[in-house]
Amino acid sequence: TTMIEARNVEFSFGSTPALRGASLAIDAGEIVAVMGPSGSGKSTLLHCLAGILVPDAGEIHFDGARIDARSEQERSALRRERFGFVFQFGQLVPELTAAENVALPLLLGGVRRAEALRTAHGWFDRLGLAGLEHRRSGELSGGQAQRVALARGLVAGPRVLFADEPTGALDSLTGEQVMDLLVTAAREQGTTVVLVTHEPRVAAYADREVIVRDGRINAPDRVAS
Ligand code: ADP
Ligand code: ADP
Repeated sequence: TTMIEARNVEFSFGSTPALRGASLAIDAGEIVAVMGPSGSGKSTLLHCLAGILVPDAGEIHFDGARIDARSEQERSALRRERFGFVFQFGQLVPELTAAENVALPLLLGGVRRAEALRTAHGWFDRLGLAGLEHRRSGELSGGQAQRVALARGLVAGPRVLFADEPTGALDSLTGEQVMDLLVTAAREQGTTVVLVTHEPRVAAYADREVIVRDGRINAPDRVAS
């Protein structure tokens, strides 16, 4: 069954078209890599699917319901309750500890502080971060910070995890460790993943690759034979 879908989505930044009729349906539990050249519309597609941007035309469907026509407040609640996010630069709050950063989505969702921190701590072993719970985020290495960001993206049990170049700031070995953890955790939880990347080695972790070109989605190229 389809978890999240873009139907003929168009979006322009002023007079710059970013999406020109993009359609993509992603099954529940599927991990899809969105590839394509810089400026082709990958991030814009992710932002439309996640209800951050509202398409100029076309529709976004999540879990059987159309979401793009909802109010900003309703889309914001949907993002908080059903979606998780990981970006290229972890965007952790540097003054907070690693565990406090992971707990943030739970605190925003109304979970009490002690319980939120307890749940957050549970992610540290899983992601190879044991012992770093009380470290200030600003003092973590790049790979540690991205794993903390991954824990934060998954801690509230999202239906869909949106990952925009999650390894883009890491060396390739560290990036592969982060992808291993991301895919393992997503599979364990049955989380659907929309992964934007321009790195084939990162896309190889997905079940399926799609390519965005000039604001439209193509099937992957076949090698001519
Ligand atoms: P990608 O993620 O594939 O690099 P983007 O979705 O970021 O592509 O961008 C698609 C197009 O939209 C590009 O031409 C880009 O310059 C333009 N664009 C993206 N964000 C903005 C913005 N905030 N304001 C104006 N143009 C933008
Ligand atoms: P990515 O494509 O990895 O998301 P970019 O470096 O393309 O990152 O863009 C970083 C930020 O700048 C994004 O918020 C994007 O929307 C914005 N942006 C991208 N292109 C433009 C543009 N031409 N004009 C203004 N903002 C842009």
